This record gives sequence, C-alpha cells and structure tokens, in this order.
Amino acid sequence: MSRPIRARIDLSALRHNHAVVRRHAGSAHIWSVIKADAYGHGVSRVARALASEADGFALLELDAAMSLRQSGIAQPMLMLEGFYDAAELPLYAKFGLIPVVHCVEQVAMLAAATLPARLPLYLKLDTGMHRLGLTADELRRSLDVLRKRSAVSDITLMTHFADADEPAGIADQMQHLRAMTDGLDLPLCLANSAALLRFAESHGNWVRPGIMLYGASPFPAMRSADDLGLRPVMTLQSELIAVRDLVVGDRVGYGGAFVAEKPMRIGVVACGYGDGYPRHAPTGTPIIVAGKRTRTVGRVSMDKIFVDLSKIPEAIIGTAVTLWGDGVSADEVATAAGTVSYELFCALANRVPVTETMMEAE
Ligand SMILES: *Cc1c(COP(=O)(O)O)cnc(C)c1O
Repeated sequence: MSRPIRARIDLSALRHNHAVVRRHAGSAHIWSVIKADAYGHGVSRVARALASEADGFALLELDAAMSLRQSGIAQPMLMLEGFYDAAELPLYAKFGLIPVVHCVEQVAMLAAATLPARLPLYLKLDTGMHRLGLTADELRRSLDVLRKRSAVSDITLMTHFADADEPAGIADQMQHLRAMTDGLDLPLCLANSAALLRFAESHGNWVRPGIMLYGASPFPAMRSADDLGLRPVMTLQSELIAVRDLVVGDRVGYGGAFVAEKPMRIGVVACGYGDGYPRHAPTGTPIIVAGKRTRTVGRVSMDKIFVDLSKIPEAIIGTAVTLWGDGVSADEVATAAGTVSYELFCALANRVPVTETMMEAE
C-alpha cells in the first residue's frame, strides 16, 4: 500500500465547464488558459481532453507549448508574456506560436528579426492595471513600426482587467481601451473568467477563461461555482491514518493551536502543506470525512492535518477524506485559508499521485 493521498482529475467535468464557457462566450472564440501546468491539473492531460472543442490554448511556458505541438496539438497557441529574448523568435515561427507583445523592447526585437514565416501577434495595452502593456503613445508608435515589417501578419489588441471580479468592475478600463483604440479596426481579446461571466461588453473576438474551466468561481464571495453551473475538475482525497480520543484540555498538533474543550474524537489525515494543502487553513476549515462535512482542527503540518470526528463515530483508519473537490469546493477551503482556489490548484505537490477519470458525456 502506498500513502493514500490522490488527486483525481475529472476530464468530463473539464469538458462540461468548457461547454459552459462556450454558452457564455456566444460568437467569441475561446482561448483556454492552460498556464502553470493547467493550474496544476496537468497541461498535456488538459490539452488532450479539450483538443476536440478548444479554439486555442493560452499559456506562457515555451517548453510546454513546444511539447504540446510535438504531441500533436494543432490549435493556435497564445503566449501570454510573449518572448523574453529575440533568440526565441525562430521557435515562435517554427512551432506556430502567437506572442503577446507588451512592451516597446519586444516591438524592437520583432522589428529587427528576420523570420521564416510571418508572425501573427497580440499587442497588449495597459488600460489601468499597470502590470504589462503599452501606453496609448507606445501603441501608435508600435503599430507604425510593425505594419512596415514583413515579419508580422495579423494584429489583435488585448488588455487585462484588474477588477473584473471586484465591485469596481471594468467600466474605467473599457473607457481607456476605447480611447486608446479609437479609429483602429483591429480584433479584441479582453475577458478573463470573471469578465466573461459578468460583462458581455468585454467579450470581443476572443475570450481568455482560466479558472472557470477548472470548475472554481472567479468571484466566490458573489457566486459559487455550483451556482454558475461549473463542476470541480480536481478532487483531492486521502484517508485517515490515525484516530484518537481527547480529554478536556488535550492540546493538538504544533503549538497546541487547538485545545479540546470537551471529550472528543479526532482523526489524522495523510495530507499536509507538503502536498499543497494551505498551511494557513485555520481550525474550522471545511473537509469531508466518510461523506460527511466536518472541520479541521489545529495547525496544518507538512504531512498531516487533524479533523473533528465528534459527529462521525463510524470513522476509522482508512476512512475516506475529501480535502477539496466533490462535496467541498476548493473555493470554500481557499476562503477559509485566506487565499484563492488558483493558489490551491497551482500548489498541488509533485508527490501527490494523479488519476484521471472521464465519464460518459451527460
Ligand atoms: C491567467 C490569465 C487569464 C485567465 O484568468 P482567469 O481568472 O483564470 O480566468 C486571462 N488572461 C491573462 C492575461 C492571464 O494571465
């Protein structure tokens, strides 16, 4: 027997969520965002599972993009940070990758390049997030330079929203975008998951959903994933490896962060921050044991966490535990731990074995 922790990746849920994206996107094309190893779900597994329905894939790791191409993924691929060095440009041409060009230094590298094939590209505009993107002036100057170059073919304009999941929304950035692009007749790519779901005016020609594909909500405080019709793709599960009775005053785990106030039973789960469970999850974080919701108690350690078994008398060593996924959403666990589902998914550790499931289409 090996250590009982597993991450189960439900590829039919992934395809279901892609269909939800498609319904919201209407006539816009969809870049399925698969950066960061598909948000920890496995980039080649996710690309394969979506290969028949995806319009394109967006990521930023060159190695991953090249290996997807070599494994037969034929869709367009958008590289969200573009190239970091002119030496990468021949690879963009060879592997058919589309760079996001976000700074004048990249424009200069492109202008100086001689390439075997003309590159389509995305020009990223800073409409208020002040992270990546060209200013209005830089956009005009870049277009002047790039339109003269034989190295460049179709240009799409792109921006990214800072508050699509916040009360502020996207109105200010949309206004900036309109001012910056006035008189330019170029395709647009704007929306992440939150904007796609909340603001139809952001859909443009291509949308860029990530988190919703994996079945989490981009704004869990406003609407749950379930409410949005999304299904969890990753379920992290393990088992109890110890069960013990506490008397009043017993301290539990590092620092005695939990102290029994009444006699109670607790379980020890084979899962800790070394597996990607958030160390900041406090006592009270929701978790499922033997199919029932309960709470964690005490401090998360590298390999283990504690659960309250007061209302689950049937729990014994080997009883199934769900950390997040089916029955308890990653959003709930992330919220309890003061973070976002994105971080939980990306943090899934290498040592956790992954199994894939693919049920029949519903
Ligand atoms: C990661 C990313 C996305 C996807 O965002 P979600 O919130 O996961 O939908 C879209 N656009 C860019 C530029 C990104 O970096």
